[in-house]
Amino acid sequence: MEVYLSENAFVGLLVSTIEVYRRECFGILLGHSTSERVFVEFAVPYQTANRKYREVHMDWKRSQRVEDAVRSTTRWECVGDYHSHSKYGLNRATTELSKEDEKYFTDGTVGIVVAINDIRKPRPWGYVKGTLSGAVNGYSIRVGAYYKSNDHIEKAHIICPYAIGFMEKQVPVRER
Ligand SMILES: [Zn+2]
Repeated sequence: MEVYLSENAFVGLLVSTIEVYRRECFGILLGHSTSERVFVEFAVPYQTANRKYREVHMDWKRSQRVEDAVRSTTRWECVGDYHSHSKYGLNRATTELSKEDEKYFTDGTVGIVVAINDIRKPRPWGYVKGTLSGAVNGYSIRVGAYYKSNDHIEKAHIICPYAIGFMEKQVPVRER
């Protein structure tokens, strides 16, 4: 399975992850899917997620309400959800799924995990072992995706042309 991230989705994931750091964010992914590919157009954060340091717990009835609202207002489908993993004490955050993440993973959907850690130097964006990895404003970011079908969770390859080769913005050179 391939998970294709649009510019909007990429920026949405970054902003919601960085906003709540060192807490963890949670939200839904809107887009559309085919049998081999899931196109993620938007990442919409849940404002009501009870953001704890280790795990994010959701009010699942509310989640259903949100999915219904999405269904009746847009042409996009809810293709999955995302949350972040933050550096906790001395442990660096990873994109590995926790037991809890696996337990609440819905069949036929994509789960994206964004790991955020502190970093000193800028680093170019690229693919590392199927994940998308880079840095922004002193944060190291790694985005991993999973797909669940027939009760089996597998790693999915992330594709994000917008992010690749993207470096923190330089001050633009004025034209003469
Ligand atoms: Zn998690």
